[in-house]
Parts: sequence; C-alpha cells; structure tokens
Amino acid sequence: MRGPFQNEPALDFSLPENRAAMRAALEQVKSQLGQRYPIVIGGERRETGEWIRSVNPGHPDQVVGLVAKARAADVEDAVAAAEAAYQEWRRMPASGRASVLFRMAAIIRRRKLELAAWMVYELDKPWDEAEGEVCEAIDFLEWYGRQALELAQPVQLSHIPEEAVQLYWVPLGVGVIIPPWNFPCAILTGMTMGPVAAGNTAIVKPASNTPVIGYKMFEIMEEAGVPAGVVNFLPGSGAEVGDALVDHPRVRFVNFTGSKDVGVRIYERAARVQPGQRWLKRVAAEMGGKDAIIVDADADLADAAQGIVASAFGFSGQKCSACSRAIVHADVYDEIVERVVALTRETVKVGSGESGEATVCAVVDEKQYRTILNYIEIGKQEGRLVLGGEPAEGPGYYIQPTIFADVPADARIACEEIFGPVLAIVKAKDFDEALAIANASEYGLTGSVYSRNRAHLERARFEFEVGNLYLNRKCTAALQGVHGFGGMKLSGTNTRAGGPDYLQHFMELKSVGERL
Ligand code: GLU
Repeated sequence: MRGPFQNEPALDFSLPENRAAMRAALEQVKSQLGQRYPIVIGGERRETGEWIRSVNPGHPDQVVGLVAKARAADVEDAVAAAEAAYQEWRRMPASGRASVLFRMAAIIRRRKLELAAWMVYELDKPWDEAEGEVCEAIDFLEWYGRQALELAQPVQLSHIPEEAVQLYWVPLGVGVIIPPWNFPCAILTGMTMGPVAAGNTAIVKPASNTPVIGYKMFEIMEEAGVPAGVVNFLPGSGAEVGDALVDHPRVRFVNFTGSKDVGVRIYERAARVQPGQRWLKRVAAEMGGKDAIIVDADADLADAAQGIVASAFGFSGQKCSACSRAIVHADVYDEIVERVVALTRETVKVGSGESGEATVCAVVDEKQYRTILNYIEIGKQEGRLVLGGEPAEGPGYYIQPTIFADVPADARIACEEIFGPVLAIVKAKDFDEALAIANASEYGLTGSVYSRNRAHLERARFEFEVGNLYLNRKCTAALQGVHGFGGMKLSGTNTRAGGPDYLQHFMELKSVGERL
C-alpha cells in the first residue's frame, strides 16, 4: 500500500553542497547542448527535414537543441497511433497505469538537478525556480497516480432493492496536449500524465520555445513504461500542427495551457463538430491572469511588500500566477510604494539563470522582450515610473524590474496581461474599492489579500473572483495536491491542476444497472 501524498521537498541552495551539485549538473548538461531530437509517433522516431531551433534566451547564440518540426501531414499518423494504442491502454488496470506514473516520479527524483539544469539553459530559469518546478512534476505524478487508483472504484449512489447499480469512470480517448513554455517540465508532465493515468492516450505538442525539455520528459515517460503510441511527441507550429490537431474529428479532448487569445481560439474551434466526428470535444483551458494583491489599511506592511515583490518578480513575472497589480489602501499607499521599491532594489537581482544568483532572468524570446518593452513605454504615459523602465544589460533578453505607481485602475498596464517583470500599483480609497478594482478584471486566476481585519478577509474569501486566493501570503507557488491550480472567468475552465477532480475532466461516467 502506498503512503499518503506528500509534496516533494525543495532543495536548499544556500547549502554549499547543493550549489556544488547544481554546478556539476549544469556542466554535464552544457556538454550536451546543440543535439538533434526527433518527433515520435507510435514509438517511431522521425525527422521531418525542418527544425525548431531552441536557444537560451539569456544567450541567444547558444543553441540548446534542434527539434524536428512536425508538419500537418504528421498529424494524421499521430492520431492513428494514439487511437490504436488507446484500445489496449484503456483496458490496462488502473494499478498498472498508476505504476507508470509512480515510476516516472522516481526517475525524475533521481535526475532532479539534471532536469533543472536543462531549464536553466532552455529558459534561463533561476536555479531555485527550476528545481522547484521539477519537484512540482513529481507532485503531479504522485497525486494523479493516486487519483487513478481511487477512480477505479465503482461509485454507488442510492440503493434500490430491485437493481444493482454501479457507476464507472471511463476514459475519453485520444487527447491533444498543448502545454506552455513557462513550466515546460511540470505542466507538460501533469497535463499529459493526468489524462494518461485516466486511461486516455495523448499527442503532445510542446511549446516551440521549450521543445528540448519536452523531449526529455517524453523520454522519461517511455523509460517509466508508457507504451508506444500512448504518448506521441509532436512539436510544430500552432498554426499548422496545433490547428490540425484541434480540428481533427477523431480527437476527443484538448488540454491547453497558455495565453487567453490562443485558449479562446482553441475553445471556439473545438466546439465545431467536424464531418465524421461522433462526440462533442472537451476543452480544458488554463489561460492568463492579471493577478492582484490587495493591501488593506491595517496590513503588516513589511510582509505585504515581501509578498508583492516575490510574486511580481520571481522568474521575471513569467508565471500566470504572478502579481501584476498591487491594489493598495490609500492610508498605507505611500509607505507600500516606498517599501516595494526599496525591497526590489535590495533583493531582486537581474542576471543569467546559470549564475545561480538571479531572480529576474531573461524573458523568453525577442518577441516577448519587445512586447514587454512596449508595455513599459505605455506605462510611462499611464502612470509614474518609480523603478526600472529600461532593458537590462546582457547578451539576452533582460529587462529591469519595473514598477509604476499611481496607475489608474482602467489603464492598459493595469488590465492587460504583460507576462514580464512589470508591476502596476493602484491606489484604492478603501477596502470595498480595492476589491471592486480587483474583480473588474476579465481574468480570475490568483489573488492575495494582506489584512488583519477578519471581516475583510472573510469578504475576500467569498467575493474575490479568483480560482486561487491567498490570505496574508504571496499569490504564486500553489502546491499540487494542496491548493491545486486553476482560474475562473477568462482565466480558464477551472480544470484545477493538482486538485481533487483533475482526472475526471478527461473521463466520463457510465452507469450499469442490473435487475436483480
Ligand atoms: N502554479 C504556478 C503558481 O502557482 C503558476 C503556473 C503558471 O504560471 O502556469 O505559481
């Protein structure tokens, strides 16, 4: 019998031996940069003649790897392979499916620092964020493995004397998995292996910025015992391969995490019943956020400032949970602005992920770099620049942590997701107004309230429209199997990753009533 779920503990990089181990892992991975990786369909490795070039955003000349780029023609083969594999995989007892997840968790545990090092190169991810992400991948596997075991038990509702009735959770079929680039190890693993644990088969289209770590995770799936065709690896462009997968009539569900625009587009496309299609497709979409931290008049201001800085600038603000709005009560507004600026100056370091010192690393690519710098220019018109506001030094896509104060609640930088190290501070006249400003967003992903006022905390508990609300704590770093993670409103379908019912989103219920 397996023990109860426990989160994988993070490594303490203040200890010299852990720093030395991470340096060794970085050396080892560095010697493997620049290799070529195939697409994989039904266990067969293929090259396609075209390559996705994955580079380190901190050193865009450093090629992390070249990954074969699938074409629309490969989609048909991938669907056929996943469909064929489904016939056997769906019959595999849940204990067998779960064993594969537990074994995968064990392999990742043994290779934790090596996998973290791949993310340091492919995303310029800071060490602690990279290692924390690998722990999160383990958490997903341990959590979903246990869920698969639980769901194998038939469900009984009320009893009637003349019939024996049982309800069974059954898988859906072939799914398309489109994970994001910002958590290319953990979220790709969870989004794929959750549905696979439920008995489905999958075609994974990794993000084009991070296909190498995607391939590493795919290899571990194979090593852990995922049979050929149960997971297929299909990197490619969204417009060519992504659309063809989403539109395919024999695809049963799409599991997406990424921007709102892409998510909405997928949702609309998947709604159309294609010729030959025999079901309504399911879409799980986890999209963006414009996450707010409210600071109330009686809050612990040192604590609130710390929460804001950590949530706004960790991994350069490239988390959909990142704090991009601080909504501050007028009574403590000036002091919070001062504290947040001072703390950012003192504690937030810009630099390469590889250095092991940085909080703000390079942003993901040139396009995103230009977008963020453009928002900073817009911010200079909309608010009062109090910190940063410029690119930072470096060969890669570095941007200074940037803070705007006195931002009107309806300014573009207070409403649109920027996905970079940019914070807008908004003044509210009282707690009511702060909550109203927070809820005016079309997004509803994460939020925090710093307050000592119990009535205000309780109002937030019920009225703050977000999927992940935190009281007197930062708004990033949800723990899988504890908080889970998923938004409301235009942040997505609330398919809580690492939550109590994740697998059920990729399953359906069938009741069997036998007359006695
Ligand atoms: N789960 C992460 C957190 O709570 C964010 C995931 C994301 O950015 O997609 O910080």
